[in-house]
Amino acid sequence: MINNYTAGGHIEAWCTKCRLELGHTIVAMVANSPKKVKCNTCNSQHNFRAKPSEKKRIKSKKPLQRVKAPEINYDEFISRLTDSELSNAKKYRIEGSFEKNEVINHSRFGIGIVSSVIQSNKVEILFKDGPRLLVQNRESGLGTGV
Ligand SMILES: [Zn+2]
Repeated sequence: MINNYTAGGHIEAWCTKCRLELGHTIVAMVANSPKKVKCNTCNSQHNFRAKPSEKKRIKSKKPLQRVKAPEINYDEFISRLTDSELSNAKKYRIEGSFEKNEVINHSRFGIGIVSSVIQSNKVEILFKDGPRLLVQNRESGLGTGV
């Protein structure tokens, strides 16, 4: 019984008026699928739909779980900083060493917050336009030998 629908036939469909899944009579078919149906209960004609549209669907009662780990909100973080903290922000240098939640000032990206220390030589810093991975503890004079 696949697509065995014909105009005048019976079909279970979502009634937009009754807001229930009810028996309907097929009024018009398009490309082997019901297009227009008539509700057997309220006699209203409407486009066929098997289920309520997303918009009208009652939202799931389950509260949305916040799976995401609490991230630093850049704007919030910046707004909590005092002017002196901002002006004293550590200048970012590849030779520098940074700690989590440290405020840094990058010559190109501006004020950032160290959101996590990935490795001893790699930190993730949150800037206004998003997090960036940056180098830290880079030895100066690299490759010159000792
Ligand atoms: Zn109806």
